[in-house]
Amino acid sequence: MRIKKLADEIINKIAAGEIIDRPASVLKELIENSLDAQADRIEIKIEKGGKKLIEVKDNGTGIHPDDIMFAVDRHATSKISSIDQLYALDSYGFRGEALASIASVSKFSLISRAKGFPLGKELYIEGGIFKHLTDTGALEGTTVRVKDLFFNIPVRQKFLKSEKTELNHIIDVFLRYAIYHNNVFFSLDVDGKNIYTLLPADRQQRIKDLFPKAENILRFSQENQTGKAYGFLLLDYQTGKEFIYINGRPVRNSLIKKVLKSKAGKTISILFLELPPYMVDHNVHPAKIEVKLRKENPVLELVKEALENVSKPQINYSLNQKTAKYGGQFEIIGQIENTFIIVYFDGEIYFIDQHVASERINYELLLKKYRTTGLELKEIKPVKIPLDETQIEKIKNLRDKLKNAGIEFEITPDGIEITKSPLEGETLKNFILSLTETEYPDIEIEKFLGEVACEISIEAGEILNNEEAKNLLKIWLATNNPNLCPHGRPIYYKIPVETIKKKVGRV
Ligand code: ADP
Ligand code: MG
Repeated sequence: MRIKKLADEIINKIAAGEIIDRPASVLKELIENSLDAQADRIEIKIEKGGKKLIEVKDNGTGIHPDDIMFAVDRHATSKISSIDQLYALDSYGFRGEALASIASVSKFSLISRAKGFPLGKELYIEGGIFKHLTDTGALEGTTVRVKDLFFNIPVRQKFLKSEKTELNHIIDVFLRYAIYHNNVFFSLDVDGKNIYTLLPADRQQRIKDLFPKAENILRFSQENQTGKAYGFLLLDYQTGKEFIYINGRPVRNSLIKKVLKSKAGKTISILFLELPPYMVDHNVHPAKIEVKLRKENPVLELVKEALENVSKPQINYSLNQKTAKYGGQFEIIGQIENTFIIVYFDGEIYFIDQHVASERINYELLLKKYRTTGLELKEIKPVKIPLDETQIEKIKNLRDKLKNAGIEFEITPDGIEITKSPLEGETLKNFILSLTETEYPDIEIEKFLGEVACEISIEAGEILNNEEAKNLLKIWLATNNPNLCPHGRPIYYKIPVETIKKKVGRV
């Protein structure tokens, strides 16, 4: 066969395959365009998980009537004009590919009226084929309507998941932008029903509007030479979800996610990072929201520090500051199911999980020891772990750190034998094996100490008398982070007495 150039229509379809993989990615591109156009009102309509309709209407700058056709041209963009601008990007888009791609795989209409023009234009394209461009009456701003996504590529259509799954992806995208752009009005209608109406609000209020069950929100923040990290933990949501932003862009990053998980467990976490632009490589493929960091460790350290700062000063507000205010006076009501200590305190009733409160105390003590004298070396019945030579080498390199963590071992011909350790049995074996799995192993000390703390702490099911409960609470309140256990589980749940009054109609 001779070589020939592909037709635009085919090029667009190929590009669409890379950028647009499902309805949610269409929504992402459209929201980004509206935000880039300075819109402060964005209304979204979805039908059938986005398979039938994705519509985004904004009140942004609109598109100049003479430029409408360019909007769906590949590599046509109003956002950059030279290569330098790529590095100081303050818009979401710059490739000029999204609309061209979307229009090539859907029934696509673009209605836009630019500021200062009496009329708008409506462009209609079907499967990449131009159908019409007409004048139309419209409000200032832009509406994009994407119908029957992939109607002309049945294979792709078949690969879409159920409506419910596609809708979940759509809501995920919606949340990611709505959280960050708290000054923008957003609405989301799904199959004719309004799901969200979000008025402009401060960030914390926006989060509450999006997550109505969030009563206990913790703020954290830290700034150092690397940059700034701050955010929120929504303790009432244990659904394991992270929202990560770098310089205003929602991103995914598996390393940062791991840090969040290790510190916040399954709590929904929202993290904003402000980093110097050169640290972040956004200029990867548009579909890859997985962002690359030029220097990973300092950023991960920053995030860790920020999450450790969760208690000071804001969180103490919820409990510690109040104890200070009340001269450390709280009223212990009792213990239920030998598991929760119930405390009344400044108009609120706290249910405190005695095991995790105790775990938090022990964890912080252990961490202090690890960083200063090292943990005690406690003799155990020797535990043999068979390892090959490379594995042994890795463990040998960690000898000093392990000793600080209270672990001593001897090398045997076919592995190691642990003679001293704060942990025993399978937990110990698994911990050692996990160290041999990565290429450059390091001790995840927080995780390890979390395990140790768990073993030595007061258990659920232990009866505590008033004095014991009081002592536990006092020490717990003095910890750095009385809100979360080392595995990220919330330590307490509280109900305002006001809520109880409302529930029984005593107002
Ligand atoms: P990019 O966002 O990378 O520039 P797109 O294909 O997403 O590429 O959009 C092409 C162009 O169309 C944008 O550069 C912008 O000028 C215009 N445009 C798209 N959506 C909107 C909108 N909602 N409001 C105003 N202009 C828009
Ligand atoms: Mg765009």
